[in-house]
Amino acid sequence: MVACTACSKSRQACRMSSLSARCGNCYRSGIATCVPVHIPVPDFSSINREIEKLSEAEEAAESRLDAEEQAATDALVRTQAARAELQRLRKQKRLLKRKEQDIFDKGWDDAEALEQLEQLELFNQEMASATVPVHPMSQFGR
Ligand SMILES: [Zn+2]
Ligand SMILES: [Zn+2]
Repeated sequence: MVACTACSKSRQACRMSSLSARCGNCYRSGIATCVPVHIPVPDFSSINREIEKLSEAEEAAESRLDAEEQAATDALVRTQAARAELQRLRKQKRLLKRKEQDIFDKGWDDAEALEQLEQLELFNQEMASATVPVHPMSQFGR
C-alpha cells in the first residue's frame, strides 16, 4: 500500500486519497507536502540478461537445426544416389540375362551368336573385375 513520506517516516497507517491533497495524518499534523514515498522502479536488468542469454541459446539451437537439416538433405541425396546405382546395376543385369537368353534361343550353331556370347563373357569379366579390383600384372610376376 502506498504511504506518504511523512507517514512512512513515522510508521503511521497512511490513507492517501486522490480526493484530498493530503492524507489524514498530514492534514492533522499540518504537513504541507503529502507525497507518496518513492517506489523504486523494479530492476529489469537481470531479466534482460536472462532474455539476452535465451536469445543467444535460441540462435545456437537454430543454427544447430539448420546444420541437422542440411545433413539430412545430404543424406537424402546420397540415399537417392545409392538407390539409382542399385537400380542401374539391376537393369544392367536384367539386360545381360535377356541378351544371354536371346543368344541361347538362337542356338549354338549360329556363329554370330557364339561371337556374341564371347563378347558377353568378356563383358561379364570386365564387370567382375570392376567390382573386385585385381592387378593384371601380378599373375605374370616381375
Ligand atoms: Zn500519510
Ligand atoms: Zn501524508
